[in-house]
Amino acid sequence: MNRKSIRGLVLAVLCLSLFYVTGCSTVPFTGRSQLLLTTPQEEAQAGEQAWREVLSQNRESSNDKYRLALKRVGGNLAKVANKPDYKWEFVVFENAEPNAFCLPGGKVGVYSGLFQYTANDAELASVVGHEIGHAIARHGGERMSQSEVQDIGAQAVATALDGKSAGTAQAILVAYAVGTNVGVMLPYSRTHEYEADKLGLIFMAKAGYNPEAAITFWNKFGQLSQTGTVGEFFSTHPMSDKRIEEMKAYMPNALDQYRTAPNKKNLGETLK
Ligand SMILES: [Zn+2]
Repeated sequence: MNRKSIRGLVLAVLCLSLFYVTGCSTVPFTGRSQLLLTTPQEEAQAGEQAWREVLSQNRESSNDKYRLALKRVGGNLAKVANKPDYKWEFVVFENAEPNAFCLPGGKVGVYSGLFQYTANDAELASVVGHEIGHAIARHGGERMSQSEVQDIGAQAVATALDGKSAGTAQAILVAYAVGTNVGVMLPYSRTHEYEADKLGLIFMAKAGYNPEAAITFWNKFGQLSQTGTVGEFFSTHPMSDKRIEEMKAYMPNALDQYRTAPNKKNLGETLK
């Protein structure tokens, strides 16, 4: 065996043991198995760092109606997301584009432009619930892990294990599709998008919002994407009839959760 093949073998064993230690996880509610080389703590730490960057580069909205709506709806969703280690924060940023995101650790940002399309609390809950779904299902960690696997090598493994590396906050911003000076915007995969849709339905229903409002919201949004008003959110969250169909197919599960929700609000407050 030459030096090169020994090095390759060592790497292979190292990678296999990494998969063994940190590799396997299951998404709550959907039960899908996923490969993760990052830990929730590393993701949350990188999320904090990315959040500070977002806060320093964006202006908070002074619209009290929007701010109160996000705090109210976000607070209700956070309660049912059942993540006691998350330090939830909900901030509306002044930006005409419709956009929303949730970073690992529970940092939620919504652009003021989104409120043109949310008729009530329940519709706002559907999009915020969807974003919280991406974070709870650790889609960003999974995407980072997938790119590590594609470029497997000592350097990549070291990066995966080093939550404090300088590039991690940027990687988290990219992975969670937050377009703040990142330059690279990657669309979520269809698997992640459908999964976030399902989790969003579950969270809004458990929080007491009628999950049918998700259909009205995403239909409205889908039509908007066909008019050519395509912003960042559409490029990272491709909208399709198939997504609506999948949501409708999953609706009975969400309605089960809604029936047993302790504090039903139906559509909640009107936001127009
Ligand atoms: Zn999404």
